[in-house]
Amino acid sequence: MSHKEAGYRGRFAPSPTGELHFGSLLAASASWLRARHRGGQWLLRIDDIDPPREVAGSTQAILATLSRLELTAAAPPLHQSRRGAAYAQALRQLQDDGHAFPCWCSRADLEGAGAIHRDGHCISPRHEGREPAWRLRVPDVDIGFDDDLQGMQRQNVRDAVGDFVLRRADGLWSYQLACVVDDAAQGITEVVRGRDLLDSTPRQILLQRLLELPTPAYLHLPLAVDAQGRKLSKSSDAPAVDLADPRAALASALRFLGQPVPAAEDVATLLRVAAQGFDLSPLRGIPARSWP
Ligand code: GLU
Repeated sequence: MSHKEAGYRGRFAPSPTGELHFGSLLAASASWLRARHRGGQWLLRIDDIDPPREVAGSTQAILATLSRLELTAAAPPLHQSRRGAAYAQALRQLQDDGHAFPCWCSRADLEGAGAIHRDGHCISPRHEGREPAWRLRVPDVDIGFDDDLQGMQRQNVRDAVGDFVLRRADGLWSYQLACVVDDAAQGITEVVRGRDLLDSTPRQILLQRLLELPTPAYLHLPLAVDAQGRKLSKSSDAPAVDLADPRAALASALRFLGQPVPAAEDVATLLRVAAQGFDLSPLRGIPARSWP
């Protein structure tokens, strides 16, 4: 009997907003180990679509860290900064099908609506001479999916976030649109990432349906939080992964992920043995774990 699926394709999609931190090490190593365990491929995507938030040199730093951790990818990384034509094509398709509308609303225009846009058309009286944002006309439907760790999820995207932005007025693409277009372009069959993105998944599934793209399986890892319950992330000054000892860094990720830490002489052996027995079921239903 074999659990191998030749068609499995997983991915890791860091934003270059700093060096790899413990939360991103978890997403990177869990997605890599899962892909290896399934006998599939692991791909990289660099989410560099937000130049103002980007930290110079962090793409190189992240790639160098992944390489020292021996988390190797099946292909060169896909850079979102070079994917504008594909996102424009997807937006055009949504426009042509009547799912997208131009919007000049400012924050002040939306204040009365609790800052959520649900009208399906722009409500701002002031359009002249300004570039619009483009929003999705979000239908009043529930989107459900069965997350492999977090269980059944259901969200009415219109109630929760409303007509969300696809392209900002300043021309920047939204993460939701770019992510959906690229997961399809890379042929991703399962998305393994942190639970902080669980809430984005219904928006992404809705976009997949409207764009007639396949929906991958989803697995959202518990969030790593500090003793006060705050998310360990780039924004809360979490330390970068200490690479003085890549084996120790991977061992702490494995412990967090509820995996035995193989006694191994080198990183390659550690990863190979960990991938063989990789089983995330101990984390099922756990939203967050404090760390260390
Ligand atoms: N780039 C996103 C982040 O670093 C992750 C995107 C994803 O995995 O879908 O939070």
